[in-house]
Amino acid sequence: MSDWREQEVQNETQSREINEWIQQSNDARGARPTNPYICECSDDACAATISLTHVEYEEVRAHGATFAIALDHESPDLDLLVSERTGFAIIRKLPGLPARLATASDPRRPQARTVIQPVDA
Ligand SMILES: [Zn+2]
Repeated sequence: MSDWREQEVQNETQSREINEWIQQSNDARGARPTNPYICECSDDACAATISLTHVEYEEVRAHGATFAIALDHESPDLDLLVSERTGFAIIRKLPGLPARLATASDPRRPQARTVIQPVDA
């Protein structure tokens, strides 16, 4: 069975994949002050949207273990709050399994599709 943390990180990485798609279509449409993205928190039922500028989004995506979430959506078991901005927050996955899973599935990493087998105790 999956570790619950693994499932929650997967929820976040799925949101990241959707936001990468949104970002690509935003780029195709041309520059706007801010663009709507979906919250990348670990709650798979979360339907919150957040507004980021292109630069802010790129800042979040620059690291494989950082995510953009709605305010107060961080999970203390998984996330370290990096920065609170207007209307959204940037979090980083905690070291260990959460960060490894997030980085391994980073869509901007060349070896992104590598499947990491969790080590069960
Ligand atoms: Zn959320």
